[in-house]
Amino acid sequence: MSKTIQAVRGMNDCLPSETNIWQMVESVLRRVASNYGFAEIRMPIVESTALFKRSIGEVTDIVEKEMYTFDDRNGDSLTLRPEGTACCVRAGNQHGLLYNQEQRLWYMGPMFRHERPQKGRYRQFHQFGLEAFGIATPDIDAEVISLTYRLWKELGIDEFVTLELNSLGSNEERAAYRDALVTFLSEKEDLLDDDSKRRMHTNPLRVLDSKNPDVQKALEGAPKLADYFGEESTKHFEGVCQRLDAAGIKYVLNDKLVRGLDYYNRTVFEWTTDSLGAQGTICAGGRYDGLVEQLGGKATPGFGFALGIERLVLMLTSLDKVQNVRPQVDAYVISLGEGVDIKATALAEQWRDEVPQTRIQTHCGGGNMKKQIKRADKSGAQVALILGEDELVNQQVTVKYLRGQQEQQQMAFDKVPALLKSLL
Ligand code: ATP
Ligand code: MG
Repeated sequence: MSKTIQAVRGMNDCLPSETNIWQMVESVLRRVASNYGFAEIRMPIVESTALFKRSIGEVTDIVEKEMYTFDDRNGDSLTLRPEGTACCVRAGNQHGLLYNQEQRLWYMGPMFRHERPQKGRYRQFHQFGLEAFGIATPDIDAEVISLTYRLWKELGIDEFVTLELNSLGSNEERAAYRDALVTFLSEKEDLLDDDSKRRMHTNPLRVLDSKNPDVQKALEGAPKLADYFGEESTKHFEGVCQRLDAAGIKYVLNDKLVRGLDYYNRTVFEWTTDSLGAQGTICAGGRYDGLVEQLGGKATPGFGFALGIERLVLMLTSLDKVQNVRPQVDAYVISLGEGVDIKATALAEQWRDEVPQTRIQTHCGGGNMKKQIKRADKSGAQVALILGEDELVNQQVTVKYLRGQQEQQQMAFDKVPALLKSLL
């Protein structure tokens, strides 16, 4: 016997038992984004490798070791997108959407990173991301963060998440700070782990968010980025905080929050949770005023975030927040007796015409009452509509309620649409 082929490690199927919760989450994401005036954009999954090297940064984890990069048949270097912001900026530049305009865009779809698969960390995963272009003032930062907070409220998980907030200042301020930090770290080099020693030279700010407690200890007394801020960066950050305060959105200031992508400046934020174990960040983003220009466009400020849909689904499941997900079917049509199924097919089509929103499944494949009722029950339907020879003669169906205690009843064909509507 030949061996069955398995999915690629870290790349998951989403089975029918899970797709209804995914669809519920996706519909909340779409609706809230649209309620704040954001429009959908769809980008390709494959882009030129240069796009990510230039935007995310050559010495970030993503570009150094996580990208799926290959040469296509023409010898061009292509990469399966590891994130969406760079793709969105590329598309905006290419189609003239950004310069001198405001754009509020969102996207959703698969991303690819060659990481060690574990709970909440996969090699193909899905992000919902949102980007606002053309607005340099802190109001949009607060608006986008408020939108994320509304997502958690709508999904019923707002009590289980924490907003962490920081400012990275401008590029110049960060460069001055970087020098001071490297001087400080050089004096503590013996206390750093190998990763941090390497980062000290390539990307020293990343040392700040090392998960290693020894490194964190070595960082005591390190210079603070905020001490290098000019008036504008300070005011911008205060502007964000004031607006979040006014909206009643709580946050924790975390001066070690630096993000793993190079393009951020000023405001950065993450939403974290304790309910997922080690993979505690569900959503992350910030301001990237230099990115559009860096990718060849005219200077345009930007602010955005991405959230991991797998981590949201895991969270909703582990917190038992999925009970409001509708089952697949509302009504199940059963037919018994010679040729009755032919009439059942026609009736089901008629009812679908009359009540298009109701999900009606007809039994196919024959079988006795017991078998058909079993299927009806398994479908999740609220009612079985039973047609037998007697029913056909009387122009009636037998309605059997599959959930709850309600008595079975006979109902004329023309009353059925009203019943189907009541199931919605
Ligand atoms: P982490 O610190 O967990 O590696 P990150 O900083 O690399 O996250 P971002 O690039 O900011 O993550 O992506 C935004 C969100 O996408 C994350 O907060 C997370 O919810 C999700 N995400 C990132 N990488 C993965 C992955 N490999 N598998 C599943 N979800 C992911
Ligand atoms: Mg990562």
